[in-house]
Amino acid sequence: MVAVQLGPICGGIGGEIGDSVSRRCISQQKQGIGAGSMSLRRDPRTEPREKDDGFGLGDRCYPQLLDTSLDGELKSFLIDEDELHTYDDLTKVNPVTPSTVLKCLQARYSVKVFYTHAGCTLVALNPFQPVPHLYSPEVMKEYHCARQPQEFKPHIFVVAEEAYRNIQGQVEPVDQSLVVSGESGAGKTWTTRCLMKYYSTIAASSSQKCQNMIERIEKRVLDSNPIMEAFGNACTSRNNNSSRFGKYIQLQLNTSHLLVGASVQTYLLEKTRIVKQGADERNFHIFYQMMKGATEEQRKEWKIPRDQHFTWLPNADRTLEEDCFQDTVAAMGHMGIATETQGQIFQMLAGLLNLGNVTFCPSADESQPCDLQEEAAGFLRAAASLLHVSAEQLESCLKLRVLQAGKQSVLKPCSREECGIRRDCLAKLIYARVFDWLVAFINKSMCASSSSWCNFIGLLDVYGFECFVLNNLEQLCINYANEKLQQHFVAHYLKAQQEEYVSEGLVWSFVQYQDNQSCLHLLEGSPNGIFSLLNEECRLNRGADAQQFRTRLQRELSGNACMSWDTFSKQPHFTVSHYAGRVSYQIEGMVEKNRDPVPPELIHMLQGSQDSLLQSLFADGNADDSSGRRHTKVVTVVSKFKNSLESLMKILHSTTPHYTRCIKPNPECRPLTFKKEEVILQLEACGIVETINISAAGFPIRIPHLCFLKRYGLIANSRISWQSVEESEPEAGSDTVAHAVVAVLNEVLRCHSLEPLRYPGTRTHGSLV
Ligand code: ADP
Ligand code: MG
Repeated sequence: MVAVQLGPICGGIGGEIGDSVSRRCISQQKQGIGAGSMSLRRDPRTEPREKDDGFGLGDRCYPQLLDTSLDGELKSFLIDEDELHTYDDLTKVNPVTPSTVLKCLQARYSVKVFYTHAGCTLVALNPFQPVPHLYSPEVMKEYHCARQPQEFKPHIFVVAEEAYRNIQGQVEPVDQSLVVSGESGAGKTWTTRCLMKYYSTIAASSSQKCQNMIERIEKRVLDSNPIMEAFGNACTSRNNNSSRFGKYIQLQLNTSHLLVGASVQTYLLEKTRIVKQGADERNFHIFYQMMKGATEEQRKEWKIPRDQHFTWLPNADRTLEEDCFQDTVAAMGHMGIATETQGQIFQMLAGLLNLGNVTFCPSADESQPCDLQEEAAGFLRAAASLLHVSAEQLESCLKLRVLQAGKQSVLKPCSREECGIRRDCLAKLIYARVFDWLVAFINKSMCASSSSWCNFIGLLDVYGFECFVLNNLEQLCINYANEKLQQHFVAHYLKAQQEEYVSEGLVWSFVQYQDNQSCLHLLEGSPNGIFSLLNEECRLNRGADAQQFRTRLQRELSGNACMSWDTFSKQPHFTVSHYAGRVSYQIEGMVEKNRDPVPPELIHMLQGSQDSLLQSLFADGNADDSSGRRHTKVVTVVSKFKNSLESLMKILHSTTPHYTRCIKPNPECRPLTFKKEEVILQLEACGIVETINISAAGFPIRIPHLCFLKRYGLIANSRISWQSVEESEPEAGSDTVAHAVVAVLNEVLRCHSLEPLRYPGTRTHGSLV
């Protein structure tokens, strides 16, 4: 895009050009008019800063003379260390290094300032304590009504408002995406919720006529949160309210830019959590909510006595504020889920809790099916009655496998371990379908008809980069998603912006950044990427031999610099160098997880359930796509995930993105505690220094010439030949248009008694110089 580019000196041009110029000294201005572009800029990496240069940085500071140590750098700031917290934008820090950036953020955090701009990105530090005054409706209004919200204190509302104004101003691409990233517990979901509240407040209609309808929509949009969090969030070692799925919410706006609906897309629910929770972790909140919030009558109906221990409900004694059953029930009611339907859902979930206590022991006669362990029979009967299937059928489905021999089917007893796997599979299957049903219901309830909305603001909240002691397919997928988002950021911002400068003929020295293309190639490359090889292994259906898969990976991928092996380890695993760090993945179990097989007997049983809702969840006759037999083509977990991610990336590419990086200041989630070692790793992982360098050296505001003239042409109205402008080709780079742009800028400079820009007589390399 060819654009008018105004450097930091003219930042804030979105409001009034005169104002912003007057507030900043432009004595250091440089001329650099690219093809169809105008720029006033300072290169913060090379140029000294003057005292009172309008950047609040005080005396001269020569980065090249600086010590590289943090202390040296700080001494060379030549400003009072007490003022570090005043840096609202990290692009003003000089020099920009991980340690100076860190020091500023720390200083701000210590005075309870949680947001800081980093050029095009907003850094949000998690306070880990309520800061209600920061998010009140009054504050929302202040940002919304401000002439230039950018000039207010950094805040998530600045980003929100900028996106909203882009829609109002029809800045291309008009649809917006707010990408919120960060590691688990950093504050992504909190931030996304905050954004939803903001738009529900500022994009609400004040007109009496629409009041009821709009109110309903806003309420539904906000009510989708407690429902999805109850069913999709859990207490983990890193976050008491950790989202175990990714989501992209589109807030739909009508031609008057009012919120008229929303839709949500979810990604990769961690369904294994139903049957397996890490030490010190919990299952999804909803189970605890039911256990704590059910009435005595409901307990009886759901067969969950108060003092009963359920295997799949560890750490039930821990009390969390998320355990509020009544809030979830109320939100489900507002969403339009009938009380009877809610009852059906809770019955199913209670059925799963009982199912978790069904355990097996090998039969004395090995050729016979396993026996149920003591007490297990009671839980099995309870589970069967809550799922509305016969106890005999449930028992047989768990213990016996149906083997197809031609047209004949033979029943084969399963080993104790296989019985457990089938039980777990049944629970995961039901829970995942209930979750999908809820999401579909929420969408039906919130989504506006396609004719009633024209633009959207998308909010992306996906799980952050994960690296545990043991990592498997789930982490590989999650980290792949993070690689894709990083690539989007790099491509959209770092790369595209620099390439644009070059194409505009601007004097520019390339800022190095970490490109993660080779890692992505390692993961998604075809035919020899990890995912392709994994799918191939599933397709060949030759048992899940970890050693065999490892040999294959080693043979095909040993040349890739992002892949490495620990040959001394007993566990077969491989290590991937992600942009955010190195992660070792277990190979054991990976192929099976990817195949995610579902025994057809289980599906048939559920299709015959006497519960209408449960039956309808399986009515499409679809054994999970990966179930085998009925489907010739195996659709694996990674294939599904990759496809949904590709659709997401397509949407992101068609929108104007805004990035927020949430930072977790300490791993213990303690209020107002800033651990430098933790924060610096996160800053490095998201390439914040490169981002700041490019933003600082570059041009944060880029407006196409014709848009610029439409907006600011009035300033030099008499000097512009509007007819010629209108007649000139709309493509940027037109001399007439460029002349008009320069006329506007010169008018501003004249008002401030500053030297006018020289308009070039000649063009070289497509640039005006
Ligand atoms: P993530 O989604 O990145 O895993 P969350 O958004 O769930 O993390 O945040 C973890 C916790 O941090 C929240 O439950 C909340 O207690 C706290 N938190 C996050 N952001 C804020 C904020 N801006 N103000 C107050 N508390 C916050
Ligand atoms: Mg979250």
